[in-house]
Amino acid sequence: MIALSLAEIAEVVGGQTYDIPDASVLVTGPVVRDSREAGPGSLFAAFVGERVDGHDYAPQVVAAGAVAVLGSRPVGVPAIVVDDVQAALGALARHVVNKLGTTLVALTGSAGKTSTKDLIAQVLQRKAPTVFTPGSLNNEIGLPLTALSATEETRFLVLEMGARGIGHIRYLTGLTPPRIGLVLNVGSAHIGEFGGREQIAQAKGELVEALPEDGTAVLNADDPYVRAMASRTKAKVLLFGEADEADVRAENVRLTDTGQPSFTLHTPSGCSDVTMRLYGEHHVSNALAAAAVAHELGMSAEEIATALSEAGSLSRWRMEVTERPDGVTVVNDAYNANPESMKAALRALAAMGKGRRTWAVLGKMAELGDESLAEHDAVGRLAVRLNVSKLVAVGGREAAWLQLGAYNEGSWGEESVHVSDAQAAVDLLRSELRPGDVVLVKASRSVGLESVAQALLESG
Ligand code: ATP
Ligand code: MG
Repeated sequence: MIALSLAEIAEVVGGQTYDIPDASVLVTGPVVRDSREAGPGSLFAAFVGERVDGHDYAPQVVAAGAVAVLGSRPVGVPAIVVDDVQAALGALARHVVNKLGTTLVALTGSAGKTSTKDLIAQVLQRKAPTVFTPGSLNNEIGLPLTALSATEETRFLVLEMGARGIGHIRYLTGLTPPRIGLVLNVGSAHIGEFGGREQIAQAKGELVEALPEDGTAVLNADDPYVRAMASRTKAKVLLFGEADEADVRAENVRLTDTGQPSFTLHTPSGCSDVTMRLYGEHHVSNALAAAAVAHELGMSAEEIATALSEAGSLSRWRMEVTERPDGVTVVNDAYNANPESMKAALRALAAMGKGRRTWAVLGKMAELGDESLAEHDAVGRLAVRLNVSKLVAVGGREAAWLQLGAYNEGSWGEESVHVSDAQAAVDLLRSELRPGDVVLVKASRSVGLESVAQALLESG
């Protein structure tokens, strides 16, 4: 982060200083909320959680070299005290991004935010120093912490923004106002909480409403809900997708025999071929989104295509492909799941598994509300239509719906099984897998199916 004195920080957040002998001492960063990450020069943001109270760690963080604590009560060591630590972090982030004048890119969407953010970062890095959201830290605390990690050298700041309701994105854009705002898609992730797809579109579209006139809204031409957001912004609109009208588009899209997308990238500045290292056709859309952002920031089609072809995954458990010594391929996509990403992963499995036996080990997709039964049924059916050799549905009611969908689509008796938990799935797979098989493992975060992928890799 940039160096700020305690006096400046206290003023920006409207805080009281306690136990600070010299307010001109500089915080050089990082700003952390995990006491174990505190070190020389850092500022520790103390939150009161359900189980732990960050303030209890104040002596430790100062012993580790932290300059001060940003908290909601005095703690006997140097502290800046505010009513609301989250709001204070936000105000500090806003202050820092204003001061830096870094170009801010923000992105949101139902699926693919982290994957696309990682792609954008890897493309922009080639042009200039880029700071980006680590992992999926896309909420009202993770976002300011990321923004605060920018320095004077940072040219581009790429921020993932998550929304669980109306007003969330508006709040985040208020902290770190983007010049480029990208909306990937409007799917059914968290549809139960939102109440419907219209509401999801309403919430995600707040990103483009926040853009300035000289900004750019980068919108998915292939998603009608996203495309319609063009009318909600004063910024210039740049469309990406496979649609003919898209400014940044892909032609000759195909999956290679290994399941990796390959296409010709067209941008307003030229065209160039891309073959990705990432797996699954959904990454074409993510790559085009990243390309549109990079084009807007002055990169040529060739530069972008090279960067996209060399980009790898930066985040765990997203289509992580590992081959065991015995020739069984394990595809660990257990990070999370929603209907769109389940279908994309199944299609990738089908492409990778041509001529091989394929297994889809799937668990529930959470938070689908009234659409849950229909969506699980549809995924089960798609597995049959794609000729997946065997479906192993793991867990309770939703797993039963997956299996029933498969059964009804293809009278699939033997090929679909329903097991109660991850251990049962591992036991079954250990006895049945043969060399050359491909196994996809995927479910919502709460199911924790990565344990299945890990167990399979250990037993290989
Ligand atoms: P979260 O809301 O958990 O932060 P996210 O939007 O950041 O999720 P990713 O972590 O990139 O999304 O991907 C989540 C899942 O969606 C992964 O299984 C991934 O394979 C899949 N996915 C990625 N991009 C797309 C896309 N464009 N369309 C559908 N599914 C996608
Ligand atoms: Mg994410």
